[in-house]
Amino acid sequence: MAAVKVLQWGFGAMGSGMAKLVLEKKTLELCGVVDMREDYIGKDAGDILKREKTGAMIYNNFEEAVEKTSPDLVILATGSFTKEVYPDLERIINKKIDVITIAEEMAYPWAQEKELANKIDDLAKANDVTVLGTGINPGFVLDALVIMMTGVSHNIEYIEASRINDLSPFGPTVMRTQGVGTTPEEFAKGLENGDIVGHIGFPESIHMVANTLGIELDEVKQEREPIISNVYRETPYVKVEKGMVAGCRHIGYGIKDGNTVIKMIHPQQVLPELEDINTGDYIKIKGTPEINLSIKPEIPGGIGTMGMAVNMIHLVKESGSGLKTMADLPIPRMIR
Ligand code: NAD
Repeated sequence: MAAVKVLQWGFGAMGSGMAKLVLEKKTLELCGVVDMREDYIGKDAGDILKREKTGAMIYNNFEEAVEKTSPDLVILATGSFTKEVYPDLERIINKKIDVITIAEEMAYPWAQEKELANKIDDLAKANDVTVLGTGINPGFVLDALVIMMTGVSHNIEYIEASRINDLSPFGPTVMRTQGVGTTPEEFAKGLENGDIVGHIGFPESIHMVANTLGIELDEVKQEREPIISNVYRETPYVKVEKGMVAGCRHIGYGIKDGNTVIKMIHPQQVLPELEDINTGDYIKIKGTPEINLSIKPEIPGGIGTMGMAVNMIHLVKESGSGLKTMADLPIPRMIR
């Protein structure tokens, strides 16, 4: 069987890691890269990955890359929001190429962008291609994994899932959007004007779980509060004095008939271990049977995202056309 030719669109922290992983797999071939960074254009992907030449060149124009490399699938790792990635998704679908994106909202775009989601689904079907949104979260820990755990349930009264993670490996963009290193006053202001958003993906994960299980929610509510540090914390990108904000505690509620039926808790901060907080992923399902899943420490976000996007490639290639979610495709598995 010929290897699947993968074009990596977006060659940042995630995209470059995915490209490396694609290069390790015999059933996949990295045929090219698209990124808008001027200093990357015309180089071999190996030059940026600091390894031997790969033969995969970096283009700044998607259409030119397609013409030169004839990819079977694109991994799109450029942005977070459905509206933001939609124009590029449209270009990929119109070229009749399957696409996996890690844009958080695309894990379940019906949650906040119903019209666009239906448009993507129609376009994908008309062009006979598959579109999948995935990642570590949304895409796995707080949704696909929760859904899979319910495979043994007879009935469910309440679902609670939490991800306690360490933001230290992430760069300036994440520090800014999580409000790390701000004063409590700046954090409050940032929440108000939208500069600080906390986690992107609660409406997506909560709706994906609810809809898959046939729970009709009345609404999804979210709360965000600052995690104030009691100690000095420092990473390569940020310094947090005692009394300043080390991260954002973000909680999402899926509500039905006035009761919370799904709760998701995601406190994200830098260096939680400095205050004796251990990272971990936890799923509790109240019902028959009672389920308590603990993963300690957390599944690392970056490595997990790269793995999930790449490991879904064959499943996407084998899937029928349309806009799919992680709940639609077979159970994810590692590509050897
Ligand atoms: P990054 O900023 O390190 O990299 C993005 C890259 O895309 C950059 O190299 C940039 O030059 C390039 N780019 C952006 N827009 C482009 C365009 N229109 N055309 C060509 N190149 C473009 O970001 P990252 O850490 O790699 O993450 C990428 C996105 O994936 C972010 O929005 C992030 O929030 C999201 N993400 C999702 C998950 C998940 O679990 N679903 C996990 C990690 C990251």
